[in-house]
Amino acid sequence: MALLEIENLSVEFPARHGSLHAVDGVSLSLEAGEVLGIVGESGSGKSVTMMAVMGLVGFPGKVTADRLRFDGNNLLDLNERKRSELIGKDVAMIFQDPTTSLNPCFTIGFQLAETLRLHLGMDSKAARQRSIELLEQVGIPAPATRLKAFPHQLSGGMNQRVMIAMAIACNPKLLIADEPTTALDVTIQAQILDLLQELQRQRGMALVLISHNMGVVSEMAQKVAVMYAGQVVEQQSAQALFNAPQHPYAEALLAALPERSDGHARLATIPGMVPGLHDRPAGCLFAPRCRYADARCVAERPQLRDWADGRVRCHYPLSTNPPRRADAAAEQAAAPAGAPR
Ligand code: ADP
Ligand code: MG
Repeated sequence: MALLEIENLSVEFPARHGSLHAVDGVSLSLEAGEVLGIVGESGSGKSVTMMAVMGLVGFPGKVTADRLRFDGNNLLDLNERKRSELIGKDVAMIFQDPTTSLNPCFTIGFQLAETLRLHLGMDSKAARQRSIELLEQVGIPAPATRLKAFPHQLSGGMNQRVMIAMAIACNPKLLIADEPTTALDVTIQAQILDLLQELQRQRGMALVLISHNMGVVSEMAQKVAVMYAGQVVEQQSAQALFNAPQHPYAEALLAALPERSDGHARLATIPGMVPGLHDRPAGCLFAPRCRYADARCVAERPQLRDWADGRVRCHYPLSTNPPRRADAAAEQAAAPAGAPR
């Protein structure tokens, strides 16, 4: 049995004329100790998917799923007691911006101790000792003196380390890291990712790493789900995905990585925008931006189906290589130098 099972998850928010499908039929699963990367442009539903797992989608958002299970528990039907046992303890989440998750009015020592007291029932002396150990583990120098610091007295990177310490305080089986480094300087980003990777390995915990950057997940994830407009469009082992993406959107995301732009000054970008509430295509949601799309793609919505060793939501996965793809490739080759590959 998988640690986390998500089948056909949808999250809708009411909007002025109809409803916004922030998440539209997402299926994902994760084994204990596994690292899953979720990538996709901003607005593709990555955060809302994981907020639904955490039970954090509030009214008027509507969450439905055929299956939403963590460690044998049905997350769609948890009583309050069970929820507080699981959420924040066995499943913890860290967010992009630590300053919005830490309370500015309390010292980090107080906030750490509060987590330990609440979930593990520690007394204040034990909690203080454990807090120091945790800060040490996340690489905060002079941890005993830092306990008295307020969040505004620490740098962004240090605050993110504190958030990670709080998230791992109760030895979660699953840590969800939602763009954990996006708000940080590049050098600090690498340090935080290294820290997450080290903690994941040491503790054997499962990790969901959300990022809009394929490069960030490429080093850490065993498998990767690519999301577009609320849907998973491809899921594969990281290696297979990076060697041979099957969905044109995954291909385009990879082509946009600086190290893949063949030394051209200009980065390959994907023209167009993620469809919103009112311009949602009837067929494939990516069709308006897809350089391979044909009449079928415009008319008929593809299903997520098994393909190679993963899954893809495309009528024509790239390894099918139909003749029209050769045309597209020839067209591309004839394009002026510096154009997207
Ligand atoms: P990502 O994390 O991939 O950038 P999100 O999951 O945050 O994207 O958002 C997916 C879509 O859901 C976006 O269009 C966003 O505007 C919308 N959305 C997210 N939260 C809410 C909310 N509370 N109310 C209405 N719309 C929301
Ligand atoms: Mg997000």
